[in-house]
Amino acid sequence: MPDFARPQSMIEALRLLAEGGWRMLAGGTDLYPGAGPQLAGAVLDIGGIPGISGIETGEGLRIGAAVPWAAIAEAELPMACRALQQAARQVGGWQVQAAGTIGGNLCNASPAADGVPPLLALAAEVELVSVRGMRRLPLQGFLLGPRLTALQPDELLAAVVIPDAALRGRSAFVKLGARSHLVISIAMVAARVVVEGARIQAAAIAVGSCSPVAVRLPAVEAALVGAAVKDAVNMVVAADVQAALSPIDDVRATAEYRRAAAVELVRRAVAEALA
Ligand SMILES: Cc1cc2nc3c(=O)[nH]c(=O)nc-3n(C[C@H](O)[C@H](O)[C@H](O)COP(=O)(O)OP(=O)(O)OC[C@H]3O[C@@H](n4cnc5c(N)ncnc54)[C@H](O)[C@@H]3O)c2cc1C
Repeated sequence: MPDFARPQSMIEALRLLAEGGWRMLAGGTDLYPGAGPQLAGAVLDIGGIPGISGIETGEGLRIGAAVPWAAIAEAELPMACRALQQAARQVGGWQVQAAGTIGGNLCNASPAADGVPPLLALAAEVELVSVRGMRRLPLQGFLLGPRLTALQPDELLAAVVIPDAALRGRSAFVKLGARSHLVISIAMVAARVVVEGARIQAAAIAVGSCSPVAVRLPAVEAALVGAAVKDAVNMVVAADVQAALSPIDDVRATAEYRRAAAVELVRRAVAEALA
């Protein structure tokens, strides 16, 4: 078995993956730093596979897994995707945004992955392919825990799909770190709201870095639906936010700080999405 391959077609990639023993490489911005002094095992570079590096519209919005953050930030996308684009501009610095991909962010499954809350607020699904066929999972069913996903060893994440129904409204992403740029999130929030007249018709709010996997906030969403836009921020009740969270103490912040910060971030994200 070679220790490196860069397949030029999906079928070639899937056949290799079916043989087992590969570590997939996209931008390498999580894989290499996490590997220590030497990357062990055979590397399958997915950068040559056609069809996973573009953004397409059709039935919903299909973002190829190998699309880098810089391309997402610069793409012309509906206002509902603004939170995703704001997050894209805050994943590391320019070099990381040029190399790091949306698929790598999801497959690495860090609780602090900035791509996850905006995609949860967009009800995103992931498209997984293998020689056995293709399957789609909701993102919340794909992310199982810190560094743990539902991806099988012979599967490749081909795309993230946002259904048409979730491409309505406007969204905002608010990230809290120890400094303004180049920082891992202490907490982050994505909020998407659909407004009709002066009232909120639908709301999707997700919080990251405050639980093993980023979560939606059903109680907050329910309180927002039907609320007048002018009253929306007051409808965000601390207990509703905190009920869904289970933050930990770590080097970046205490659990208590995260719990309090999340409430303020949700209010700011809702206000910004409505602004
Ligand atoms: C300096 C620095 C700053 C960073 N700052 C941030 C930040 O602010 N916010 C943030 O969220 N992240 C940050 N990151 C982490 C990283 O840049 C992102 O998570 C990025 O999106 C990872 O994508 P990648 O293409 O580089 O993944 P890779 O490193 O290539 O892969 C990551 C993991 O996913 C697997 N994988 C990749 N693509 C696929 C696929 N299509 N199918 C199946 N498995 C796949 C790989 O095998 C590997 O296990 C930072 C990293 C660095 C080095």
